[in-house]
Amino acid sequence: MTRKVKGILLRIGQTVHEERVLTILAEQGCVTVFAKSSRKKNQYDQFYYGEWVLYETGSGNYLLNSFSLEEPFHELKEQMENTFLAGYLAQIVLYFAKFAPQETGVLLSLLLNSLYLLGRGKPPRLVKSVFELKTMQLMGYCPTLASCGHPGSIFSLEDGSILCEECGLSVKGVPVTASVAAALTHILNHPPAKAFGFQIPRPELLRLSRLSEEFLLYHLEIRASALEMWKTVHEDKE
Ligand SMILES: [Zn+2]
Repeated sequence: MTRKVKGILLRIGQTVHEERVLTILAEQGCVTVFAKSSRKKNQYDQFYYGEWVLYETGSGNYLLNSFSLEEPFHELKEQMENTFLAGYLAQIVLYFAKFAPQETGVLLSLLLNSLYLLGRGKPPRLVKSVFELKTMQLMGYCPTLASCGHPGSIFSLEDGSILCEECGLSVKGVPVTASVAAALTHILNHPPAKAFGFQIPRPELLRLSRLSEEFLLYHLEIRASALEMWKTVHEDKE
């Protein structure tokens, strides 16, 4: 039986039998697909998006039948630092795929938008922050943005509430300003396609980037190796 899925290739692994194992993020969620290693030049590569025709075996495994490329994200790969950042975004998706692969389908359009914007020169920190916060929201870890009733300056990493300095003393938190709070509201209140559409001054973007990253890393047990690599090569010119 064959099945067609539209999706993006996140990871290429290898089995002991020299077969390739592809992890594809599709609308239906993450799918694991086996492909014969071929000496010919690969028809697919990491972050290739398109239509995958899969053959389902009697034991329920998927074998790659054919692939038609629709978007290779070439611009993204022209800069090593963007490739690292894209690798970090893929790591986050793969983290969720480990526990509930079929629930990751909602992340597809967010990831495609993020990679497209990175390739088109959108500030990487902005793309990274929107991806981090929106993914956490879509996967059930939405910051509450609840207030303690006083003017807030601390973002609580536990539940994403915004507390005054006094109430913030008892929680693990990061500083938040009015414009960072406005950016948070924009990101959480818009669908993936519109979540990136806001302007923020550079010092505020640095705060937003720290906040979204710490919130994600506080909740997920993730070894964000690609993020560390990105930080070593990222030129801070945003
Ligand atoms: Zn308070």
